[in-house]
Amino acid sequence: MAANKKLLVLPGDGIGVEVMGEVERLLGWFDKKRALRFDVESAHVGGAAIDAEGKPVSDATVKKAAAADAVLFGAVGGPKWDNLPFDMKPERGLLRLRKDLGLFANLRPATCFEALADASTLKREYVAGLDIMILRELTGGVYFGEPRGVETLKDGTKRAVDTQVYTTPEIERIARVGFELAKKRNNKVHSVEKANVMHTGVLWRETVTRLHAKEFPEVELQHMYADNCAMQLVRNPKQFDVIVTDNLFGDLLSDCAAMLTGSLGMLPSASLGAVDPKTGKRNALYEPVHGSAPDIAGKGVANPIACIMSFAMALRYSFDLPDEAAVVEKAVTRVLGQGLRTGDIMQAGKTKVGTREMGEAVLKALEQG
Ligand code: NAD
Repeated sequence: MAANKKLLVLPGDGIGVEVMGEVERLLGWFDKKRALRFDVESAHVGGAAIDAEGKPVSDATVKKAAAADAVLFGAVGGPKWDNLPFDMKPERGLLRLRKDLGLFANLRPATCFEALADASTLKREYVAGLDIMILRELTGGVYFGEPRGVETLKDGTKRAVDTQVYTTPEIERIARVGFELAKKRNNKVHSVEKANVMHTGVLWRETVTRLHAKEFPEVELQHMYADNCAMQLVRNPKQFDVIVTDNLFGDLLSDCAAMLTGSLGMLPSASLGAVDPKTGKRNALYEPVHGSAPDIAGKGVANPIACIMSFAMALRYSFDLPDEAAVVEKAVTRVLGQGLRTGDIMQAGKTKVGTREMGEAVLKALEQG
């Protein structure tokens, strides 16, 4: 049995703390029942770190995150810290972790549980059983490109500039992650850009085509323009397996795909760095897509499933334990099948439960195997 995997747990603020509490109980279960030992350390991040350590993430915590095999992150933010200067805001803690750990690949699965197919705004037959992975480039593109800024022109009007920029190595490394993911899934990649109107799109398409021919000819590859992809996601989402795209298009398309699955409280994510050629280690941070939800924080009603599914992603992608990940996913599927629902996914005729009861039910389902 694998032993001593190093995990850094950063619950953060608001419901981050509540949903992470349920993941910590799962860790205890794996330790006791499957002899799967984790060296778990926890630290503050976000508002909690501002209160305890004077900044949204301390240098010591960043160091621990870089040394860990995986970071489990809850959520940050809240009204208490809303009026702080930009660089002191809780969200800066997360942005610094992403940057310092070099987390360039953002994986956002959009999975629609059979039991929740009616919660989507699309018809059941289009979303039931949906399982797609949106892979977004996270550290390049128009959100970082230079020059950027706003200038005032001579006539008093303003001019704003953002620059979309990608290099061949940046495209290759994200596309490589996409092909590797597809090999473990349904072997199909859609590479998405706008090569019809953007130079970065042309380079993106050329680079992905070349990499595919050289390293991944066995994977099915299709190119698609981003606007068409948005349309196809709501027309026939099940045609996709892995979608690999840049930072801006990934931002938009992953939110669009999220809505196919019903609720924010169900969506996990992973952010991965490059594999270190010397050690084979890859930095990784796993987090629910939702925020700290101040409107329900402290009430014990948050849905812990996004955080639990983020832990399942850590088992699969950082620890290469697909069977253990599947055990967690199966337990969640079973609990939903039994009709248990937190408020965010509540439907008529189902049983409403809180965070703790949902976590308990997942543990019980794990027991049943
Ligand atoms: P949010 O995701 O926190 O909440 C949006 C809505 O969804 C709320 O009504 C909330 O109650 C509900 N919701 C979210 N997660 C839920 C869950 N697990 N179970 C049940 N309901 C859930 O987004 P917001 O309200 O825009 O932001 C609140 C705070 O969170 C802000 O300070 C924001 O900056 C921060 N935020 C942090 C992250 C992060 O840490 N990665 C992401 C988004 C927002």
